[in-house]
Amino acid sequence: MNIFQKYQKALSNEERQALSFCTQVADDMGIKIYLVGGIVRDILINREFNDIDILVEDDAVLFGDILTKKFAKNIEILARNDKFKTLKIKFTIGTKNFEADLASTRSEVYEYPSALPILAETGVVLKKDIKRRDFTVNALAMSLNSKDFCQIYDETENGLNDIENGLIRILHPDSFMDDPSRIVRGLKYRAKLNFSLEETTEILQEQCLKSDKYTNDCQDRIKKEVKETLNLLLPYCFNRFVSENIYKLIISQTSKKDIPNGNLVCKIIDGCKNFIDTENIWLIFLCMIFNFAPFELVGNNTEKLALKRKEQAIITDFFLLKSELELLQNAKTNYDIYEILNKYSPEAVVANLCLTKETELADKYYLYINKLKDIKLSVSGEDIEKFGIENGIIYKEILNGTLKEKLNNNLSQAEEKSVFKNLCALAKNKTEDLIN
Ligand code: ATP
Ligand code: MG
Repeated sequence: MNIFQKYQKALSNEERQALSFCTQVADDMGIKIYLVGGIVRDILINREFNDIDILVEDDAVLFGDILTKKFAKNIEILARNDKFKTLKIKFTIGTKNFEADLASTRSEVYEYPSALPILAETGVVLKKDIKRRDFTVNALAMSLNSKDFCQIYDETENGLNDIENGLIRILHPDSFMDDPSRIVRGLKYRAKLNFSLEETTEILQEQCLKSDKYTNDCQDRIKKEVKETLNLLLPYCFNRFVSENIYKLIISQTSKKDIPNGNLVCKIIDGCKNFIDTENIWLIFLCMIFNFAPFELVGNNTEKLALKRKEQAIITDFFLLKSELELLQNAKTNYDIYEILNKYSPEAVVANLCLTKETELADKYYLYINKLKDIKLSVSGEDIEKFGIENGIIYKEILNGTLKEKLNNNLSQAEEKSVFKNLCALAKNKTEDLIN
């Protein structure tokens, strides 16, 4: 299949029509525009692409303004950035809606290792823009102008070969030091595309991970990439994250000896998918690593990661539950198990389950996850009120007492109601006795 055929196969009629509007305007303006990055890579390897990125070898904002004026019925601007000269636009073609990003070619500089890149210039020639990108396979551009439509511009000269040979290769020796989040991106693309690291890239990755020259400025980017990569829930990602020391971007020291294997962790998480928020899968993996790291380091490092409050709570819960393991081991009844585990976030429960070596303990986690956590009372505080009992701590005692009986004895709804009534009657008698 030639490249034009691949392009036709990868894009829908509507998407191709939308891009033909871009072609018309760029041709009229006499400027060069390209598809760039992931979409080009994915078209070439016959893979479904994620997003449409259009690179304008000029001013993308000006291009976008003219484009939306000419095709006002079909194109709308969603967001604009006048400094970086980028636009997000929405196409409406027939009944289909889809978005695209328009970016001006730009050059960037890094003032020191892992600094946030500083915009140097916009509207630069394609070759200069390509230099700021991560990997050769992500640095390909495909012309959208009519005179060379679908022609591939391989400015790094390795992009097409690397696609052919399945290689992830950085563009220059300082690339990982400039932005260590690229190490995690490299792992992500290896897993998603089934590619491997090119030899020199592998050595430079190792060197970067051994170095302590990079700062914390790129923690946001690292966090985003770690989340995306580990959330793929692939044994390969976690195993390599550990074996290649990529975890060092997050925590410098940990004992690798006891970290459970990715196959096992993925299997357990997969079995608990309905119980957890799948957006938080990466935090379960991080718990596997934090568990074997010095405790003080965990606190320091999670702070650097700038976790959201909910994310931090999962890590904290993981350690708190771990400190209650003996209690869980000794738990005899369903209610005992429920009472311990129900205090913690589901992801913290699963993380502890992943580390469990005893079957008896694992059975308790599964009993909670698969059954106990779904058992809910059919009565509430409002029903207690109907007995004329004054609101107070007694409400909690009645409800907990009912739940305890329900969990421990598998009560039917009728049986639950009868236990509840008895507890209410007892409580009422007690308060009346006190008053008299
Ligand atoms: P996908 O969206 O399928 O994961 P993609 O290649 O489109 O792949 P994005 O994260 O959407 O990846 O980024 C778009 C493009 O921006 C990339 O192809 C790459 O050229 C560039 N890019 C993204 N992040 C970085 C980075 N940290 N360093 C250098 N270039 C980057
Ligand atoms: Mg993308």
